[in-house]
Amino acid sequence: MGRELTIKKPPVFPTFRELNSCLVECRRCERLVHFRENVPEKKQWAGTYWKKPVPGFGDPDARLLILGLAPSAQGGNRTGRIFTGDASARFLFEALHAEGFANKPISESLEDGLKLKGCYLTAAVKCVPPDNQPTALEQKHCFPYLENEFALLKKVTTVLALGGFAFNAYLHYVRSHGRLKPPHRFQHGGKYVFAGFPDLYACYHPSPQNTNTGKLDQAMLRKVLQEIKALTSHSIQKHQELPQRLPG
Ligand code: SF4
Repeated sequence: MGRELTIKKPPVFPTFRELNSCLVECRRCERLVHFRENVPEKKQWAGTYWKKPVPGFGDPDARLLILGLAPSAQGGNRTGRIFTGDASARFLFEALHAEGFANKPISESLEDGLKLKGCYLTAAVKCVPPDNQPTALEQKHCFPYLENEFALLKKVTTVLALGGFAFNAYLHYVRSHGRLKPPHRFQHGGKYVFAGFPDLYACYHPSPQNTNTGKLDQAMLRKVLQEIKALTSHSIQKHQELPQRLPG
């Protein structure tokens, strides 16, 4: 059983299916809609790009929520699944599989058979932003979708923020639903506890910018995952055959 969380607002949508059906049609941010629909397509995948908002996916009974920034142009925006089909996905899933959170070490396409175990993966902003930089207004527009995911994921006890943007998005969530006062600074490997809310762990984002330079390596990411696993008494045996991604 997860701890009881302090969430004041009821979910806007009572199921992932309804939430994601609405999400994938969202055109609230004019700049991001234009960008996602006009990402230059690579020759080998031309004509197959998703070009819509990208829903989260994973175990609806997850105790761990992994939060990224936004879909990447050639990853989620191409494949329709977050952390899928790019270098960041390959790095992340090598570690998730090694630590028992995923049934495979790869995340390449919707047809790859990937399933998450006890964790759910999503992004703070659901559309790919130019230069990975959503504006403050775009973040505000998209925030209710993340709030709705939190409301539906009733067993989550831990959030793993991949990078500073996701870290701040979760702080904003806590602040919006509670009384977070002291400033919190992102520190890789750091753990942050908020009464009534899931604990927060910080990890550098698994982007090539970090992984190719050695700022983040597999051992560092796995160490954070191991700590989370130990503290949440994560049951990696539990593998529910539930929808991993909902249709648009
Ligand atoms: S970023 Fe979020 S709010 Fe903006 S268009 Fe995409 S899904 Fe809608």
